[in-house]
Amino acid sequence: MIRIENISAGYLNKEVLKNISCDIEQKDFFGIIGKNGAGKSTLLKILCDLLNPYSGNIYIDGKNIKSFSKKDFAKTISFLPQYVDTSLSFTVSEFVMFGRYPYMNIFKVPSNNDYTVTKKVMDFLNITDFLERKINELSDGEKQKVLIAQVLAQETDIIVFDEPISHLDIGNQNDILEILRDLNEKYNKTIILTLHDLNIAGEFCNKLALMENGSIYRQGTPEEVLNYKDIERVYNTTVIVKTNPISNKPYVIPVSKNKIKTG
Ligand code: ADP
Repeated sequence: MIRIENISAGYLNKEVLKNISCDIEQKDFFGIIGKNGAGKSTLLKILCDLLNPYSGNIYIDGKNIKSFSKKDFAKTISFLPQYVDTSLSFTVSEFVMFGRYPYMNIFKVPSNNDYTVTKKVMDFLNITDFLERKINELSDGEKQKVLIAQVLAQETDIIVFDEPISHLDIGNQNDILEILRDLNEKYNKTIILTLHDLNIAGEFCNKLALMENGSIYRQGTPEEVLNYKDIERVYNTTVIVKTNPISNKPYVIPVSKNKIKTG
């Protein structure tokens, strides 16, 4: 469904992505992991056509993303960046309505359908209690749900998230991930996301790409990618990989250097 083909990219004269190729299937829950600076966010920017590659192509259902009109592209793939400016005092319902921009005409007046869709996503995310509150007055967990509501209002089959849970506590992290899982399993959305937490990546994703220095070092199922040898090599640390007794998914435990020396 999505084909990333020989992508090289970077900023000015600094090459960051080096000849990356990778396929993402429809309905994948696809996690991109790797150290800080490995190129994960840059790859998302290329995929979402926010940065032009030096070379290579991206195809969605066989169509080069460069041949989409801006509106059609926005109806195909939506992106929630890591940092979104939520300092302005829009209400939650106004903010979610911004997600409808690809469907609006030049006068930007919402149609009945725009109201129906935004109501549906706000119900789905359980945020109807604070519709009239200002986005800049919400907690981080509430804010993240509103941001997700905005991308859902865009009604795309593919949704891309750059570190959607990095600043949330474990309860809110699980809440958000269960929402993404529902979108994937019940609503057939293809989810692509970068994650720092390898255990969450192992638990929720069906495919992983482990990046290192602008290349994909290993890709496959969590069981294939989260093996101690690859993790130790890429992250330059010592770990144990075990299997979660309930989900049967791999999880990674760091081992302190001190303990290794003293046995
Ligand atoms: P990751 O998401 O894996 O942490 P990034 O894709 O953000 O990695 O960054 C990869 C490299 O590209 C880093 O060396 C970073 O400094 C550089 N980089 C990222 N964004 C920019 C930018 N806007 N301008 C110049 N260099 C950038």
